[in-house]
Amino acid sequence: MSKSVVRMAPSPTGNLHIGGLRTALFNYLFAKQHDAKYILRIEDTDRERSKPEFERNLLESFEWAGITFDETHRQSDRLELYAKYIRKMLDDGSAYVSKEVPQEEGQREEVIRLKNPNKKIAFDDLVRGTVEFDTTELGDVVIAKSLEEPVFHLANVIDDHEMGITHVIRGEEHLSNTPRQILIMEAIGAKRPIFAHIPLILAPDRSKLSKRHGAVSVIEYKNRGILPQALLNYLALLGWNPGTEQEIFTLEELIKAFDLKKIQKGGAIFDEKKLEWVNKEHIKRLPPEEQINLLRKSIENEPYMKSELHLDMNRINWKETPKEETKKHLEKVLSIIGNKDEIMSYAEREGKGNVLWPVRYALTGAEKSPDPFTLIAILGTEESKKRILKAIEQI
Ligand code: GLU
Repeated sequence: MSKSVVRMAPSPTGNLHIGGLRTALFNYLFAKQHDAKYILRIEDTDRERSKPEFERNLLESFEWAGITFDETHRQSDRLELYAKYIRKMLDDGSAYVSKEVPQEEGQREEVIRLKNPNKKIAFDDLVRGTVEFDTTELGDVVIAKSLEEPVFHLANVIDDHEMGITHVIRGEEHLSNTPRQILIMEAIGAKRPIFAHIPLILAPDRSKLSKRHGAVSVIEYKNRGILPQALLNYLALLGWNPGTEQEIFTLEELIKAFDLKKIQKGGAIFDEKKLEWVNKEHIKRLPPEEQINLLRKSIENEPYMKSELHLDMNRINWKETPKEETKKHLEKVLSIIGNKDEIMSYAEREGKGNVLWPVRYALTGAEKSPDPFTLIAILGTEESKKRILKAIEQI
C-alpha cells in the first residue's frame, strides 16, 4: 500500500482559533498512526483577506502546540500551476469563459465557470456516512476570476490532487463545499480522497463558538497560561472519546488511542471549566522545577517581583496578633528559612495565620500572592531574608 498523505489547509484570514487547531491535531494524530506524510498548505488565494500577520500567527500557534509538518506550501507561490489547469479545462470544454452583467461595483464582466454536468453524486464520509447531493442546484460554479485568480475551491482541489492527498480531514463547515469540489475533481481527472468532516465546536448555548464567548484564538490560551499539551488533550475530547474513563492524555497516548472512525456526528460543546481542569491535571504531572518556572512566569509582572517593596505596618499582623509577637515569628522564620518542614511545624505550634501571613506579607507587601514557600523558592533565600529583615526593622 502506498503512503497516506494528509494536509492542514488554513487560510491566513484570521488568527488560528481552537477549531483550526483541533483540525490540525486530528490530521496530526492520523498521520502519526499511519506513518502518513503531513503537509501544511497556506491557502492564501483570497488576496484581499489574506495577511502576513495571520500567516505568522498560524505558524506560531502550530509551533507552540507542537504540531509539526513534513512540508509547507503557499498557494500564492503556485499560481502558474492553477493557470495551467484552467487553460486545460477551457481547452477540453469542462469550463468556459462566461460573460457577466456586473451587479455591483468591482464585479467582473468575465469569469470562468465550470460546466456543471447536473447530476447526482454520493460520497462516503468517515464521520457522516454516505452523503448524497444533486449538483443541479449549484449551477455552473465560478472556478476562477481570471487565469491568475483561481477561487478557493479550484486551488484547493488542484493542490489535493497534485499533492496526492489521500484523506481530507476538515471541519464540518466544509461539508457543503464537497459536492462542487467533487465536480472539479472529476473535471480535472483527480482521484477522490477519503473525507472526514469533523463536528463544529459549539458554545454552551449551542450556537457556533465565536469571539463573544471569550477567547477563541490559540495564542490567547497560551497567554492565559494554558499548557499546549493540555489544550491538545482537551481539543481531542471535543468530538471524540476513548470509550474508557481516561480523560488525561499525553500526545503519545493520544496517538495510541485516537480513532478517526469514533468521531461523533453532533457538535461538541466547548467548556472552559473543563479545559481549566485538564490544564491543572497536566500541571500536576510536571516536574517541580517546571511548575516553579510556570509560576514564576505567571507572576513576573507583579510589582513585588521587581520594585522596592512598600510595607504597611498596619497590615503585617495577622488579625489581633500583637506586633511584638509578629516580630518574634519573623525572627524565628529568618533563622530557619531554608527548612520548610521546620517552619511548618513552628507555624502549626504557634498558629498558621500568626506565622505565615506576616512572612508572606513581608515577602510581597501584597494582599494576594502565592504561598510563602513558593515565594521563597522563586525569590531565592537571600532576597527572602533581606525582605523579612526589612520588615522586622520596620515593626
Ligand atoms: N482553506 C480552508 C479553510 O481555511 C480549508 C479547506 C480544506 O480544509 O479543505 O477553512
